[in-house]
Amino acid sequence: MENALKCASCASDVVADVTSNDVVTIDGERVPFRRHTDYVVCSCLSSYRVTDLREVVAHVEARMRSNTLS
Ligand SMILES: [Zn+2]
Repeated sequence: MENALKCASCASDVVADVTSNDVVTIDGERVPFRRHTDYVVCSCLSSYRVTDLREVVAHVEARMRSNTLS
């Protein structure tokens, strides 16, 4: 759950995790995403492109790696 991504509008968790192949919903369901146009919708109806969510996760992971090195 460390990659859980929060909605910028209402601060709810939007997805529990994002991998290169799928997203994990808050309910624990794995949903495969293959197209760049796929997106997830928060309960407040804010929508997020999966490609954008993956970029956020990549930044978090890069920061965690650099913290481990230093
Ligand atoms: Zn929201």
